[in-house]
Amino acid sequence: MRAHGALLTGFGRILASCLSVVAHHRPVLLPWLDHALFARAAVLVLSIALPQGAWEAASAPLTGGGPAFAALVFTKTSGFRHDSIPAGITAIKSLGEQHNFRVDASEDGTVFTDANLARYQVVIFFDTTGDVLAPGEQAAFERFIRRGGGFVGIHAATDTGYEWPWYGGLVGTYFDSHPAIQPALLKVVDATHVSTKHLPAEWTRTDEWYNFREDPSPSVRVLIQIDETTYSGGRMGAHHPISWCHAYDGGRAWYTAMGHTTESYQDPLFLSHLLEGIRWVAGTTPE
Ligand SMILES: [Zn+2]
Repeated sequence: MRAHGALLTGFGRILASCLSVVAHHRPVLLPWLDHALFARAAVLVLSIALPQGAWEAASAPLTGGGPAFAALVFTKTSGFRHDSIPAGITAIKSLGEQHNFRVDASEDGTVFTDANLARYQVVIFFDTTGDVLAPGEQAAFERFIRRGGGFVGIHAATDTGYEWPWYGGLVGTYFDSHPAIQPALLKVVDATHVSTKHLPAEWTRTDEWYNFREDPSPSVRVLIQIDETTYSGGRMGAHHPISWCHAYDGGRAWYTAMGHTTESYQDPLFLSHLLEGIRWVAGTTPE
C-alpha cells in the first residue's frame, strides 16, 4: 500500500489522510462527531484517489496430506490504514507454517466470489476499514458463511461494513471510539474456550482499546473483558468486551479488538489467542 500512497496526488493524499485519521481517531471528547459520516467521506476520497488494490495469493487447492485448512487474510482499507498490517500478515503466515494451514493475503474485494472463497475454510478481516466489498462480493461472502465458513475479525474489523447489517451481526458490533494507546488489565471471563484456556486469568497488555457502538454481549459468547478502572477512556461500563465468538448464520465467527500495535504481532500470548481463534472458526478444534 505504500506504492498506492505514492500514487495519490498531493492534495488527495493530504485530504484522505485528514479524513481517515479523523474517522478512526475521533477524540473521545467530541462525541457529536459522526464517525460513519467521516468514514464515508474518506471512502469517497480514497475511491477516487486509489487504484484497485493488487492481491497476492493463488496457491493451489488443498490436497490430501497438505495443510489442514486454508485461510484468506483480507486487509482492504477504505479509511484509516494501520501500520501494523504488514507485520500482522507476516505473523499469520508464520502461524500457518508452524501449525499446518495455508495463508493467502489479499487487498482486493473481487476475490470474494463463490469459486474463489470455496478454496478457503477461513476468511480473516484484518484491520479492514470503511466499505470494502461491493454488493455482489458481500453476497458471495454471506454464502461462504452459510456453507459453514469461518470468520475471524481482528481489531478494525469492527470499523468496516457500517452499511452492511449482516456483517455487523457477524462481527458482533461496530467500532465507536478509542482513547490513546495505553496499558490495561484484561480479564478472561470464559476460560473454557480453546482461544483463552491457555491465557492468564488477568492479563496486562498495551493496545488501542476500542469502545463499541453497542455492547455485543447479548448475542455473542464473550471471552475477554477489559477492566475500565485500569485505564482512561473506557465507555462500555463494568462488562466491556474485547474478544468474543459465536455461531452465526451457519458458520463460526471469532473477533478480538486487540491488535492495533505492530508489537502485538510479536506477542506470544496475543498470537496464541489469535491462532486458536483461527483454528476454532476453521472447525479443527472443538467447542
Ligand atoms: Zn487501531
